Amino acid sequence: MNIHEYQAKEILSAYGIPVPRGRVALTADQVERAAKEMGGRCVVKAQIHAGGRGKAGGVKLVFHPEEAQNLAKELFGRSLVTPQTGPQGLRVRRILVEEAVEIAREFYLSMTLDRGSSRYILIASAEGGVEIEEVAAKTPEKIHTLSIDPLIGLRPYQARKIALALGLTGSVCEDCVSLILNLHKVLLEKDCSLVEINPLVVTKAGWLMAMDAKITFDDNAVFRHREYPDMMDYSQLDPLEINASKYDLAYIKLDGNIGCMVNGAGLAMATLDVLKECGGEPANFLDVGGGATREKVAEAFKIILQDGDVKGIFVNIFGGIMRCDIIAHGIIEAAAEVKCTLPIVVRMDGSQVEEGKRLLSESGLNVQCGDNLGDAAQRIVQMLKASNGDN
Ligand code: ADP
Ligand code: MG
Repeated sequence: MNIHEYQAKEILSAYGIPVPRGRVALTADQVERAAKEMGGRCVVKAQIHAGGRGKAGGVKLVFHPEEAQNLAKELFGRSLVTPQTGPQGLRVRRILVEEAVEIAREFYLSMTLDRGSSRYILIASAEGGVEIEEVAAKTPEKIHTLSIDPLIGLRPYQARKIALALGLTGSVCEDCVSLILNLHKVLLEKDCSLVEINPLVVTKAGWLMAMDAKITFDDNAVFRHREYPDMMDYSQLDPLEINASKYDLAYIKLDGNIGCMVNGAGLAMATLDVLKECGGEPANFLDVGGGATREKVAEAFKIILQDGDVKGIFVNIFGGIMRCDIIAHGIIEAAAEVKCTLPIVVRMDGSQVEEGKRLLSESGLNVQCGDNLGDAAQRIVQMLKASNGDN
């Protein structure tokens, strides 16, 4: 689960990490008032669930409340496209108005899960404010990492080593040690999978400050924090994803043209791999889980069909807990309801498979059943090629 920069900064601030003075606004008038409060000269920051806003025009220094208001009007009306949003961008619904800070130096600091070592890892660099991936690729020696032992935790001497590696000295170095330890506390106590400050800055007056903040909560721990659901900004999510979560379906948007309905995450991964191997491009994957009902399958099918990129549908279900005839009923019901004419290939196996196949073949839909996963994947790819050729 992602939250906005201003929400992440509220958390950091509660843990004693200095952030610029700011106010979040929902209208252009509020932006103007907030700018006045800051004394006119301030930074206007579009709040979207993506970084790279600065270069995309979503973070700007203004000198007048009126200028802030005009910029806000422009930002509220459009989607912001950054390298992290995809081509359609994300709608701006909230704007953070912040005091303009005189920056002397910018650093990068984050803590995240390293799946390889099953540990949290701290990443820091004196080259902050820019694409950290670029720094890592071109000048890996400028990235400092520290694997955090889950038993010992993060010790002050380790934090100090990082602060020194960033070139900090004296009291700013000690401020940085406290900041790193506090950030680690946020990471653990708030169940985060990522806390990132980019840039962490030293101001011209010599203060350490988090100028940007990104926090991702671990979805599996959201139930432990009652306040998290209220922090969610649904305008930043794909409407199909919201719909899918209502029915407890896992939906992931991808950029191809084959809609995939699968039961189980492992089978989903294998399905995507095999489709790719056959030259197909998945448009999404929708995991209906183990014991889905007929209604759930029908909802899943409808969600896939609402994705405008989908030109064909691939269903790969193993009927263990779920019976194949129930799946067939769900597909037929949903396809009839939304008048689906797209090519469908179904690979089913397990309980009641013959009955499921019979129901599908007698349904009048543009559907084929594959004998096995490889065969079925090839069929949907070929059906799509053939229908492309028709156009
Ligand atoms: P993003 O990472 O999405 O581009 P940031 O919040 O990091 O957005 O802002 C981009 C840049 O704008 C920062 O690297 C920093 O140099 C500058 N900046 C951001 N907030 C302020 C502020 N309050 N005062 C002065 N400069 C700022
Ligand atoms: Mg940033």
